[in-house]
Amino acid sequence: MATPFLCKPIEMGATLVVHSLTKYMTGNGTVTGGVVVDSGKFDWSASDKFPSLSAPEPAYHGLTFHQTFGNMAYTFHGIAIGLRDLGMTMNPQAAHYTLMGIETLGLRMEKHVENAVKVAQWLENDPRVTAVTYAGLPSSPWHETAARVYPKGAGALFTFAVKGGYEACVKLVDNLALFSHVANLGDTRSLVIHSASTTHRQLTVEQQIAAGAGPDVVRLSIGIENIEDLLADLDQALAAATA
Ligand SMILES: *Cc1c(COP(=O)(O)O)cnc(C)c1O
Repeated sequence: MATPFLCKPIEMGATLVVHSLTKYMTGNGTVTGGVVVDSGKFDWSASDKFPSLSAPEPAYHGLTFHQTFGNMAYTFHGIAIGLRDLGMTMNPQAAHYTLMGIETLGLRMEKHVENAVKVAQWLENDPRVTAVTYAGLPSSPWHETAARVYPKGAGALFTFAVKGGYEACVKLVDNLALFSHVANLGDTRSLVIHSASTTHRQLTVEQQIAAGAGPDVVRLSIGIENIEDLLADLDQALAAATA
């Protein structure tokens, strides 16, 4: 969800980074994909914990990946063994859409974050809303950590709680016109879901609350639309939901 625009894990000491390309990277909910980025910094042979890279591989005539490919060992193993055995190869059209999407990643993420902060602030000041859970707001216990880890903003996915609970949330989602009601996230279009009645409905109420998906909680993935349009849509839907 953070994307390499908002967060640079390798600079913070990570060895491997896994991205879902399905979300912001492509940006328009058209493809599924993933990518693994290897920093090349890890010594796979320092212990015997990583024999697939540090010991001979019988299926490749005893080739030792780390010794042979150095800091590309993990990547080559992923291709030669992982892709060979599991077969998850992206189709060319999905790869094409993804590469086109990434060209505008920076522009889009700036707008996503700008809109998300404004929507979160607006909701936090609304009497029909009981709580907003967004690390980009000073009210969040994660605000300082987020500012350090995500210096350009805390992303555009967050939840808020609505007065009136479960029924009000269902009505809110039904009444939103600009927001799409889908389980996806990280789309250029704004998305909404009430987890307790959809993705998390098989859990008990206690489990939903523990997951941050209690009956009164709505999840928003804020897009790059005009901010006035987003606020107007939320305003009319909150009015209908809490009337
Ligand atoms: C993100 C997402 C997927 C695909 O997930 P990957 O990150 O590509 O593994 C599938 N379904 C829904 C509803 C999603 O939000």
